[in-house]
Amino acid sequence: MNDAFGLYLHIPFCLQRCHFCAFYLELHREAAAEEFVHALHSELRLYADEKVAAGRRLQSVYFGGGTPTVLTATQLTAILASVREAFVLNPDCEITVEAHPGTITAPGLSALRHAGVTRLSFGAESMHDDELARIGRPGARAETVAAVIAAREAGFTNINLDLMYGLPGQTMESWKRTLSVCCDLSPTHLSCYALTVEDGTRLAHEVRRETGRAPDEILQIEMDRVAHDVLSHAGYARYEISNYAKAGYECRHNLLYWTQGDYLGLGPSAQSFVAGVRFGNIAHLATYQAALAEGRLPVQDRSVLTAEEQLRDAVIFGLRLERGIPTSHLNHHAVNYSYQRIVNHLHATHLLEEEGERTRLSAQGRLHADSVVEKLF
Ligand code: SF4
Repeated sequence: MNDAFGLYLHIPFCLQRCHFCAFYLELHREAAAEEFVHALHSELRLYADEKVAAGRRLQSVYFGGGTPTVLTATQLTAILASVREAFVLNPDCEITVEAHPGTITAPGLSALRHAGVTRLSFGAESMHDDELARIGRPGARAETVAAVIAAREAGFTNINLDLMYGLPGQTMESWKRTLSVCCDLSPTHLSCYALTVEDGTRLAHEVRRETGRAPDEILQIEMDRVAHDVLSHAGYARYEISNYAKAGYECRHNLLYWTQGDYLGLGPSAQSFVAGVRFGNIAHLATYQAALAEGRLPVQDRSVLTAEEQLRDAVIFGLRLERGIPTSHLNHHAVNYSYQRIVNHLHATHLLEEEGERTRLSAQGRLHADSVVEKLF
């Protein structure tokens, strides 16, 4: 059993909606943000009263979204102060704030650092302004470069850059250039996500109307391979399908999701998994706030996972990691003949590989991770 415990805070505001984004969010307005912050304080107090951490200390706090840094540094540090009142934090607790490069200021960064934020995650996406414009992501490459420099000046040493590949108009050459510019900035961590077309997004609409094109999956596979080569060469190790880090800088909070750790999610649409129970908040800001104004938690659904379901999740998420899963997770099903046959077939077709007492996706299997998992379950 993984005893780690983390806290996720969903800040549901952005300056505008990127064309590919299907997350729950609202466009930022100051008055709405202030009301939300008030509600989030109430939610933290309710969980403190419930003693949901059961004496455990937080090993990570993660401000995600949305764009957390559309809130002022004063609002973010006040939320963090509430977190410290509601929970006990490990002395080396990882505290991450996702940030849009265009929404930070030097005094704001300095305030976050002084409040104890240890890690910044910038949504860089691409280092080409035309590619950013095509996905409706506000800002420019120069802002990302300036943001990393400003973060270092404010005292941050642990910095992530989020990148995407398979963007409209992106070529292999432009992707290599993005990777190279990012490596020159020397972040401690890089996330490289393949662009996908999500229902309900502007990109999906454009693809349907044939005014836009879906990403070229063959090119994306090649871009993934190039990212691995370039980043390995620059000293980053891939530890999860989309995530690379310098030694010791793997994201502790995200590792919770892949290793069946407990995490509590606050804010509209945030998901939680605590002591075998999965539950989620309502994905609607006004309803979320109304529940909290009445002194109720805004939890919409709750399900107790059986041991079998927890094992299934351990396999699904654990296979995303380079280190894979204990092989015993798969053998557990060995009583089921047809299941064992599927596992054997995945080995025979070189999609899974075994090393010592662990099983992981092969390089080929990583490219087909979703279909491997589909075959298993
Ligand atoms: S900044 Fe991030 S959360 Fe906001 S719209 Fe763009 S992709 Fe979505």
